[in-house]
Amino acid sequence: MATIARLQLFQPSTPIMKPHSHKLFSKFPYPNLYETSRLRKFSTLCSVSDQTPPQSVGSTEAKRQLTAAGFQLLSETDDWDLKPGGRYFFTRNMSCLVAFAIGEKYSVGNGFHVIAAHTDSPCLKLKPKSASTKSSYLMVNVQTYGAGLWHTWFDRDLSLAGRVIVRGSDGSFLHKLVKVKRPLLRVPTLAIHLDRTVNNDGFKPNLETHLVPLIATKLEDSSQESKEKGSALSSKAAHHPLLTQILSDELSCHIDDIISIELNVCDTQPSCLGGVNNEFIFSGRLDNLASSYCAVRALMDSSETPGSLSNEHAIRMVALFDNEEVGSNSVQGAGAPTMFQAMRRIVDCLAHEPAGEGAYQRAIRQSFLVSADMAHGVHPNYMDKHEEHHRPELHKGLVIKHNANQRYATSGVTSFLFKEVAKLHNLPTQEFVVRNDMGCGSTIGPIIASGVGIRTVDCGIAQLSMHSIREICGKEDVDIAYNHFKAFYQTFSSIDRKLNVDT
Ligand SMILES: [Zn+2]
Repeated sequence: MATIARLQLFQPSTPIMKPHSHKLFSKFPYPNLYETSRLRKFSTLCSVSDQTPPQSVGSTEAKRQLTAAGFQLLSETDDWDLKPGGRYFFTRNMSCLVAFAIGEKYSVGNGFHVIAAHTDSPCLKLKPKSASTKSSYLMVNVQTYGAGLWHTWFDRDLSLAGRVIVRGSDGSFLHKLVKVKRPLLRVPTLAIHLDRTVNNDGFKPNLETHLVPLIATKLEDSSQESKEKGSALSSKAAHHPLLTQILSDELSCHIDDIISIELNVCDTQPSCLGGVNNEFIFSGRLDNLASSYCAVRALMDSSETPGSLSNEHAIRMVALFDNEEVGSNSVQGAGAPTMFQAMRRIVDCLAHEPAGEGAYQRAIRQSFLVSADMAHGVHPNYMDKHEEHHRPELHKGLVIKHNANQRYATSGVTSFLFKEVAKLHNLPTQEFVVRNDMGCGSTIGPIIASGVGIRTVDCGIAQLSMHSIREICGKEDVDIAYNHFKAFYQTFSSIDRKLNVDT
């Protein structure tokens, strides 16, 4: 392990990096998002918890960074006491997060300037009863989550991460996050000798029968099993006892005190820079932790210094949601009214005297939402998959996504305003529409825009290999997105004032 870790160690001082890119990248949580020790070697700002499961990595890491930056943690179940100039956040299910900074010149009825993104990515999740045996192998049964490129999960060194409910010594239930760093699982491909047709006919795994990770051979299990008799979970044979044992080792608790688990399968390979100029980021879950990261950093950095909110009339907000990959319809997804409930409470909280008629509705109409989700860069080997005049390239800035059929929420007005922000700060932007003969993806943009009626632009960083276990984007684009988002918070109030569409 130590050797592998050393080999994979990211070298931050490579001279090819442009200075400002280096500065941002030094805060960038990708190199494996939970490989704490490795991250700390090049970043003090981004020491991601090694207890962080993939599904909640965005919000867990965001929570840590926001707390460090002085944002006050709220609970949705408490009374809120908010003040202009204050900075706050809350989480829901540890996989959805809303953070906001209130302008010191805020008056009731003023708008919210929001960047929204999603925290989830396609992955494999353990079934409620995961233990299975085939021949002499111990297997772990999984469900597929989202539209993954599942062939990329074969022959990878995989591990487990997620949440565990542990019984406390006083009888209470403790919610714990867990991440096992060492490779525990593997989904082996079938040798070419046993399937000569695969290169011509394509690799078409059956997701129920071919995508089952193996975790051990029976021999090791039986010795463990006798050792671990009596575990609440293993006695029901829901999960292999040696799997439960690994969790109890990680959490330093007794195996009998593990009373419920929710685990995902995850990749163990750390993220890294790549390409001859170190210009690419090779990583899992760029979609959509890259956007989540840029949004949170931009909010923190635009409201960090004393006085940074002194001329602000609006409320700057980040909203990160779970379950986008499966349609957003969940209590922690963008389909839930989390963000609008928070907006309503903020407006009510700040209205000390009678706020006048329609304060909340006025606030919504003055608000603007940037829906940030990764975009498809043009693929050099599949150029014809893009419409020829709309081929986003790496390192050319945020991609503004348009779709006449409203798969994206961008309008002529919202794209204009968001591009004005970029223009003022000399940042590049690009345009994207899908070909008319192909289907178009979607984002949380239309869900939120239509939910309450908030002006929205859909945009994102160009990447390749979206939904692969290992994705690629350009390092420079992360920097550009961060600067564009920061500029949005700092200058949108003044730009928005110049255009009035409905009078
Ligand atoms: Zn996405």
